[in-house]
Amino acid sequence: MDDVILKVRNLKKHFPIKGGIFGREVNSVKAVDGLDFDVKRGETLGLVGESGCGKSTTGRLLLRLLDATEGKVVFQGTDIHKAGKEEMRRLRKDMQMIFQDPYASLNPRMTVEKIISEPMKIHNIGTKAERKEKVRDLLEKVGLPRNYANRYPHEFSGGQRQRVGIARALAVNPKVIVCDEPVSALDVSVQAQVVNLMQDIQEEFGLTYIFIAHDLSVVRHISDRVAVMYLGKMVELADKDELYSNPKHPYTKALLSAIPIPDPEIKREKIILEGDVPSPINPPSGCPFHTRCPFATDICKKEVPKFEEKDKDHFAACHLVD
Ligand code: SF4
Repeated sequence: MDDVILKVRNLKKHFPIKGGIFGREVNSVKAVDGLDFDVKRGETLGLVGESGCGKSTTGRLLLRLLDATEGKVVFQGTDIHKAGKEEMRRLRKDMQMIFQDPYASLNPRMTVEKIISEPMKIHNIGTKAERKEKVRDLLEKVGLPRNYANRYPHEFSGGQRQRVGIARALAVNPKVIVCDEPVSALDVSVQAQVVNLMQDIQEEFGLTYIFIAHDLSVVRHISDRVAVMYLGKMVELADKDELYSNPKHPYTKALLSAIPIPDPEIKREKIILEGDVPSPINPPSGCPFHTRCPFATDICKKEVPKFEEKDKDHFAACHLVD
C-alpha cells in the first residue's frame, strides 16, 4: 500500500488573462498553485474543496488533460508533463477519467457499444469481435444487461449512464482513475449504489482512485486518505479516520462542522466562515485562508504557511498547528 504510483511536485496551473490592444498577458488565474503530494498504489485519495478551489483542474493535470504551468506529475517513473506524444499515448491507457456529468460526457449519437469500445480501438486493443465481447462483459461488470450495448445514452437513467462511463474507463485496463465528482449529478438514492460499484471494481481490478468531491461527507465512505484544497493549494492531507477525528487546519474544521451528525446526543459547534472564497486572480498574501480564518494573526497575513508533516502522515499548512 505504501508503494507510490503518482508523485506530484510543485504542480501549478495558471490560466493567463490577456488584455490591452496587443492581447498581452496582464494577469493570471492561479487555479492550482503549488501542490506536493503522493498517491499510493491501490488507494482512494479523496480530494475535497469548495467550487473554484482547483480540485477539478488538479484532476486534469494528473492525467495531463491540461498542461501544467510548472511542476511535475511522475507516474511510474515518468514525468507525464515532459512525455512526448507517443509516450503520452501509451501512458494514457493506464490513466482514465470518470466525469461528473454522465449526461454530457457520453456522445448521444453513439451506441453504448461504440462508446465503450472507442478507447480500445484508439489503443489497438483486441480484434473487432474481441472488443464486442469485452463491451458486453464490461456491461455485466457494471451491473447492466449485455444487450444494452445496442442502446443510446438517452435510453438510460443517470445512474445507468454513469455505469456506462465507468465501463468505458475500465475498457483499457487502466491503473489510475480520476473520478471527478462522479456521483454529484445523481439522485441521492443511486449515489450509494454507484459508489459501492466503484469500490467493488477497484478491488477486482486493483485500481487507484483520485476521487474529487465538493464536500467531506461524500468522500468519507470511499477514501483511504483525504486531501483538502483551498484556493489552489492543499491545506491538509491525512488518513481518513485521522482527518475526520483530528482535523488540524481551521478550514477543514469548518468544512467538517457543516456536516450534520445523525446522533442528536453529539453536539458539534458549527464554524461559520465569513465572506466568500477570494479570487484566484489576486489571492490574499500569506496564508490564502487568512481573510476568512477565525484564528488569523499577523504572521498569517505575511508568510505563506508551509504544507508540512505535523504528525505522522498528517500534513497541514497552518502557522498555528505545531
Ligand atoms: Fe488561519 Fe493563520 Fe492557520 Fe491560515 S495560517 S489557517 S490564517 S491560523
